[in-house]
Amino acid sequence: MTRDLLGRHRAVLPEWLALYYENPLEITHGEGRHVWDAAGNKYLDFFGGILTTMTAHALPEVAKAVSEQAGRIIHSSTLYLNRPMVELAERIAHVSGIPDARVFFTTSGTEANDTALLLATAYRRSNTILAMRNSYHGRSFSSVGITGNSGWSPTSLSPLQTLYVHGGVRTRGPYAHLDDRDFVAACVDDLRDLLGHTRAPAALIAEPIQGVGGFTSPPDGLYAAFREVLRERDVLWIADEVQTGWGRTGEHFWGWQAHAHNGPPDIVTFAKGIGNGMSVGGVVARAEIMNCLDANSISTFGGTQITMAAALANLNHALEHDLQGNARRVGGLLLERLRAVAAQVPHVREVRGRGLMLGIELTRPGTDEAAPEAAATVLEEARAGGLLIGKGGGHNTSALRVAPPMSLTVAEAEEGAAILERALRSI
Ligand code: PMP
Repeated sequence: MTRDLLGRHRAVLPEWLALYYENPLEITHGEGRHVWDAAGNKYLDFFGGILTTMTAHALPEVAKAVSEQAGRIIHSSTLYLNRPMVELAERIAHVSGIPDARVFFTTSGTEANDTALLLATAYRRSNTILAMRNSYHGRSFSSVGITGNSGWSPTSLSPLQTLYVHGGVRTRGPYAHLDDRDFVAACVDDLRDLLGHTRAPAALIAEPIQGVGGFTSPPDGLYAAFREVLRERDVLWIADEVQTGWGRTGEHFWGWQAHAHNGPPDIVTFAKGIGNGMSVGGVVARAEIMNCLDANSISTFGGTQITMAAALANLNHALEHDLQGNARRVGGLLLERLRAVAAQVPHVREVRGRGLMLGIELTRPGTDEAAPEAAATVLEEARAGGLLIGKGGGHNTSALRVAPPMSLTVAEAEEGAAILERALRSI
């Protein structure tokens, strides 16, 4: 049945709508941290559909909120007052850490970043954007133009002038062998040099941890140093929290907080997990920036009642059950466990990450060379063992990504680590 569906998929959908696995999966249902395929196989889910499942699969509160709202009204999000949208905006403004915050809802992370670019360019009257090398911010016409991961940038005909800044990947390339201090100094130097030749840019956009890029973090102090340099030129800071928000990184509610960059970002974008699978994205910014647009509403579906009701129930559940604390505790155990396994597998160059956002970088043993075929093997073997994980990485996919729903239990972490250990040993 799934094979038949695969043939039909290939016959009508774009070739670039890539699927994982030699025999792609058809997921039919989920519960907690598990999903089932059409053949009835059960999998422990360590990727949550690319972090879209924030709390748990089929969370009863979300299911109830969605079905009740669907039974009442699903309407456009604009023109009339929308209670769930106001309530969620109040919640997010409160937890955002941004003073005088205003929230605008979209239907995806891409659209959230588009809106952030619209705001930043209008506010600063400049279409020059600084972005990080190896970054991913979406695939719309403007967000693709600020995506530094070349494997994910199918066009370079962007309406923006984008300048890429060093500071992302460090496993390979000219900076690979510098220690953190020298790396930060070299990147700051590079940024100053870039600014010296550039008309005032509108903003720098950065992921606190690069997601598609393989869950890599810049070293401590890098973003803080960048922020200082950019402040001198009134360049805005946009934090793309599409993967890192809502406590997933454990120690902090937002990814940007780990970088201690002297105050909150000017603009924060979010999406993925907040809707627990429903399409919710958005932007938070100071009123002065948000209100700089001379526009009527700019989305029919962003903030529609049903997605807002889902997100509100989901966020309330995460806060009431301290899933951030759970991500810190269980993620910490998982990191330790994976590091112990990795020490015995020569292909593992590094195990990194924060909370329940962990990356495993693979290289050919004893070299800096990427090992995408090893990553593909581990992905298949993990699936055969009943575990779903993700891939990612720089200009190839040589990193494994682990990002389970944030309610992961210790027993499930142990179980997943054991399957991953067998898969890594099979390389
Ligand atoms: N920003 C980041 C950091 C992302 O990881 C993604 C999606 N992978 C996006 C933006 C785009 O989000 P969406 O796919 O919801 O448009």
